[in-house]
Amino acid sequence: MRMILVGPPGAGKGTQAAELIDRLRIQHLSTGDMLRAAVAQGTALGKQADGHMRSGGLVPDDLVIPIVIERIKEPDCQNGFILDGFPRTQPQAEALDRALDAAGVTLDAVVLIEVPDDLIVERITGRRMDPQTKIIYHLRFNPPPAEIADRLEHRKDDTEEACRARLGKYHSETAPIIPYYEARGLLRRIDGVGAPKDITVRTFQALGLA
Ligand code: AMP
Repeated sequence: MRMILVGPPGAGKGTQAAELIDRLRIQHLSTGDMLRAAVAQGTALGKQADGHMRSGGLVPDDLVIPIVIERIKEPDCQNGFILDGFPRTQPQAEALDRALDAAGVTLDAVVLIEVPDDLIVERITGRRMDPQTKIIYHLRFNPPPAEIADRLEHRKDDTEEACRARLGKYHSETAPIIPYYEARGLLRRIDGVGAPKDITVRTFQALGLA
C-alpha cells in the first residue's frame, strides 16, 4: 500500500499513521519528523529549514522534494509507505507523481482527515510528546501519566501564533491539491473529530481494512 495522509496540522495524521503502520507493516515517512531530525542534527538542510518551521511557514519545495523522492527509492519502502505531511503543495504533488511513474508504481489512496479550524488551535497548543515512546498526548483531551510529565516535549511550532500561520498555509497551499487526487478517485474523506480510536476505525473502514 502506498498512501498519503493529508489534513491540517493537529488533524491526527501522526496518530493515525502509527496505527496504520502497525497494521500494514509499511514505512511511515513524515517530512515534519525528517526536517526536525535535520534541525536537531544541525545539517545544512536543518539550518535552512529551521526558521521556516519555527514561524509556521513551509520549507521551500526545492529542499523538501529531494528528501522524499530519495527516501521512497530505499529498499524498505518497496512494500509500501505512508506519506505524512507530504505533498503539501501542488509542485510537491506533481514531483511525487513523476517519481512514482518513473518507478512504475501507483498510489493506492489519499486519506484526508478533516477537522474544523476552531478545534485545531486547541488541539495543537495542548499537544505534548513523550520523546522516549514518541506517544503524543494532549494536556486536556488525553492527559499524560503524571510520572512522565517532566520529560514531555512541546514542539516549537505548537504555539498559537505558529499554529495560525500553519493553518493559513494549509488552506492556501495544501487544500488546493485535494481536488487533484479527488479527480483520480483516490481521495477518502475522514471526519477527524472524535476520539483517536474512533478515527482509526473510520480510517480502516475507508481503506477497506476493517
Ligand atoms: P508537521 O510535523 O507535518 O506538522 O510539519 C512541521 C513543519 O515542517 C511544517 O509546519 C513545515 O514548516 C515543515 N514541513 C513539513 N513537511 C513539509 C512539506 N511537505 N513541505 C514544506 N514544509 C514542510
